[in-house]
Amino acid sequence: MRHSNSCLLRVFLLFAFVTTAATSAAAKSEWQAGVAKRVITPPQPMWMSGYAGRKGPAEGKLHDLWAKALVLQSPDGERLVLVSLDLVGIGRDVSQGICKKLQETHSLRRSQISICTSHTHTGPVVGRNLITMYSLTEQHKSLIDEYAVFLQDAVGKVVAEAFSNVQSASVSYGLGKATFAVNRRNNREADVPMLRENGELKGPVDHSAPVLAVRNEKGELSAVVFGYACHATVLGLMEWSGDWPGFAQIEIEKRHPKAIAMFVAGCGADQNPLPRRTVELAQEYGQQMATAVDKVLAADMKKVSGGLTSTYKEIDLKLATLPDKDTIEEDTMSSNTYIAGRAKHLLQMIEEKGSLDQTYPYPVQVWGIGNDARMVVLGGEVVVDYANRLRDEFPEKDLWVAGYSNDVMAYIPSKRVLLEGGYEGATSMIYYGLPTAWSENVEEHIVKTVHELADALDK
Ligand SMILES: [Zn+2]
Repeated sequence: MRHSNSCLLRVFLLFAFVTTAATSAAAKSEWQAGVAKRVITPPQPMWMSGYAGRKGPAEGKLHDLWAKALVLQSPDGERLVLVSLDLVGIGRDVSQGICKKLQETHSLRRSQISICTSHTHTGPVVGRNLITMYSLTEQHKSLIDEYAVFLQDAVGKVVAEAFSNVQSASVSYGLGKATFAVNRRNNREADVPMLRENGELKGPVDHSAPVLAVRNEKGELSAVVFGYACHATVLGLMEWSGDWPGFAQIEIEKRHPKAIAMFVAGCGADQNPLPRRTVELAQEYGQQMATAVDKVLAADMKKVSGGLTSTYKEIDLKLATLPDKDTIEEDTMSSNTYIAGRAKHLLQMIEEKGSLDQTYPYPVQVWGIGNDARMVVLGGEVVVDYANRLRDEFPEKDLWVAGYSNDVMAYIPSKRVLLEGGYEGATSMIYYGLPTAWSENVEEHIVKTVHELADALDK
């Protein structure tokens, strides 16, 4: 009797062991994902970002602004965290604060986190980002500081929620197309309808719309990430909105009520949605994007297999010859209030640090999503030449190039745009509070770094 009991127990234990091992092996061999969203519309009227000409704070909203988070986990347990924000940009300080907290809370390396902004021009001022663009009262400055704290807290919460929603998933991707982005350096805005009709629009564009889809065990869409290289500048109203990317996310979520839609801005620094300036057009481009995304979702998407990898590096991106102190002091008297404002900001920096920095710590990040997809995540307002060049230089990979991520410190012109000058090549530096244009090797430095990081991932 005794003997047989013990035998039964042994059989039971063996069965239990085999079952547990089988279950954990199944969990281990699966992809997992969690997604969440949270409103980040400022709780009270505050200054809006993106345009220097506004004379007062926001006056209501067209729709809410959102922070959204996607956690991806590969079968070997490696994770990536993508955060999308309906905001004009994010500065180094706020971004670092968010990432440090996320790293501590969720045991992540910096490379595993991407903070992506949509560049909506009907969102709030974020921290010190573009701060020399506005003349603000102390009260408005303190509202901006309060919002930065609110934002960091909201991102912490939305990422925690995405982690708590993690479940088995399948991940796939595909490439769509939308054509409303126009190279704004090469086409006069007023001429665009006529040029488009005649097929005479000029200048480089990137009309690709990469899509990453996450489906749950039942095959239902739970998250869709889409990218496009185009400014979110249809609107310059006094009401909060996510501009066309905001309308696109709303439309995608309407068409797929169980899914959260996330936008990742591409290299659209020299691209505008044209024509523009009406709410109807912002909605129309949102619809066009949602339809482009739907086409990809309905087609055969490429299933992600392999693992997740990530790498992140800050490089010393070099500025051109710095102005001397006498020139900056002269600039404080400029009749151009933005030049005068920047000069005062630069003098303050000289006083604090002794001198101006010759370089800027520019963030370059590369993610490996499965064996074939690579996401290049760049800081700043990156012109379209980078996306087109990088895709040509990685023909064997499905390359997704994002801008406006991790730190939006300035425009990032290619060598071509830098030498041409103009707003994206030079004068936009005034609004970002940087002392001068980038040096001529900026494109080579960034592209070389992308290659280094991508090669390191594949070793
Ligand atoms: Zn811009």
